[in-house]
Amino acid sequence: MGNAMNRVDTTARGGVPNGGVSYWYSSTELPKYRPPLPGDREADVCIVGAGFTGLWTAYYLKREQPDLRIVMLEKEFAGFGASGRNGGWLSSELAGSRPGYASTHGRQGVVDLLRAMRAAVDEVVAVASAEGIEADIVKDGLLHVARNQAQVARLHDSLEFEREWGAEPDDFRLLSRDELDGRVVVADARAGTFSPHCARVQPAKLVQGLASAVERMGVTIYEQTTVSDITPQTARTDRGTVRAPIVLRCLEGFTASIKGQRRNWLPMNSSMIVTDPLPASVKAQIGWCGAELLGDFAHAYMYAQRTADDRIALGGRGIPYRYGSRTDDRGATQEWTIEALTGLLHDMFPAVRDIPIAQAWCGVLGVPRDWCATVVLDQSTGLGTAGGYVGSGLTTTNLAGRTLADLVLRRDTELTRLPWVGRRVRPWEPEPLRWLGVQAMYTLYRAADRREYKRELPATSKIARVANMITGR
Ligand SMILES: Cc1cc2nc3c(=O)[nH]c(=O)nc-3n(C[C@H](O)[C@H](O)[C@H](O)COP(=O)(O)OP(=O)(O)OC[C@H]3O[C@@H](n4cnc5c(N)ncnc54)[C@H](O)[C@@H]3O)c2cc1C
Repeated sequence: MGNAMNRVDTTARGGVPNGGVSYWYSSTELPKYRPPLPGDREADVCIVGAGFTGLWTAYYLKREQPDLRIVMLEKEFAGFGASGRNGGWLSSELAGSRPGYASTHGRQGVVDLLRAMRAAVDEVVAVASAEGIEADIVKDGLLHVARNQAQVARLHDSLEFEREWGAEPDDFRLLSRDELDGRVVVADARAGTFSPHCARVQPAKLVQGLASAVERMGVTIYEQTTVSDITPQTARTDRGTVRAPIVLRCLEGFTASIKGQRRNWLPMNSSMIVTDPLPASVKAQIGWCGAELLGDFAHAYMYAQRTADDRIALGGRGIPYRYGSRTDDRGATQEWTIEALTGLLHDMFPAVRDIPIAQAWCGVLGVPRDWCATVVLDQSTGLGTAGGYVGSGLTTTNLAGRTLADLVLRRDTELTRLPWVGRRVRPWEPEPLRWLGVQAMYTLYRAADRREYKRELPATSKIARVANMITGR
């Protein structure tokens, strides 16, 4: 069966093609749908949602116990969500607050989790290679730039913070302006940091390759099948019911679509734009010959990659949240967001001003009320979940998948003792408080960024500190 998802809206102001799930699919091809659930079924494990969380869990379960009957239920196609739309930072950045995790498991628990995240970057690269997945993966590390005085202050704080949490000097290091320029020339950059623990990936290729690998191992993925209700041993869909002793909810930013979950993880919007391929004359001005990922120290931060086909793909929050925990339509983002991201791109890289924006898109990521990720399996009900990665999910899903697999197999391992396992988090406020809170937070962050630029503040603006306090971030 074909797939009508890749319809890209070109009628938008400015003519930037918008939606079509993501550029990553436009540059390859949207996959053909797998068949839907053909009626009621039974399984040993039922996984709801075929993004990286669900797929990695299936992968490790099947690798450890090949005779397990695993059924995956997916509303659209495997990789339709954030997993096929993201910025391709396969980074060791930890989702969530370190003091938050330390409050239950102490400092050593967090240090172990950070180590596990670094190892997970290499694990993903190794599995992709072992399974023959071609996903433009290059591990050239992660750059962060500071472009005003307050950002420079945060840069130094971040280095100290990493040392406090056990980083070795080579894990995160300061780059002088010259060293930074040697890698990528960002306008107004004052200093930067470099971490080797990050690889550039083309996320749609990775998630499609993983889905095929999981299928080859004997997992059944039913697509075009929407789950509406999850209760112990049961996942109800529009196509029938799956009964299994273990049911795992792997829906991240789509969690609110399940009955009773509306105030669970908040679907935060993140949007991206991608340029046409850069001509040699532009490349000569900005450098960026490697595959380093690029971020900044702004409050409303950006993330970028140089793609394997020589474009710049850049993302950020834009309009962060849709009222009532709604999600986008096929990745179409708001005009305002496209303009804001394009303005930022041109500000950082004036040499690309004349290069057309080839496509814009967006997706949702899951934000828990305490901003900390979770892996949970309730052995008494057989219900489990993993997510709440707050935008750092590409590597984290691998660690979560291995951890969920250990929990399902009732193994007590180093992974199941990590501090994010078994966390209980309070729900978000009801609407309109939820919407007002997120709008306020991002309005304040943007105001803080503007103030820091305009007034050359020597340290983080008080406005941002207030925003952090209000949101409990
Ligand atoms: C624009 C953007 C950029 C990002 N950039 C980065 C980055 O560079 N690095 C990084 O680490 N992280 C990044 N992230 C976050 C990262 O992509 C996610 O954390 C990660 O992909 C989450 O994977 P998942 O499998 O948990 O969720 P998803 O990939 O969202 O998968 C959930 C799946 O569930 C399906 N589904 C939804 N509702 C139902 C239902 N009712 N029934 C059945 N199926 C359903 C969806 O179609 C989807 O396929 C980014 C996210 C976005 C949106």
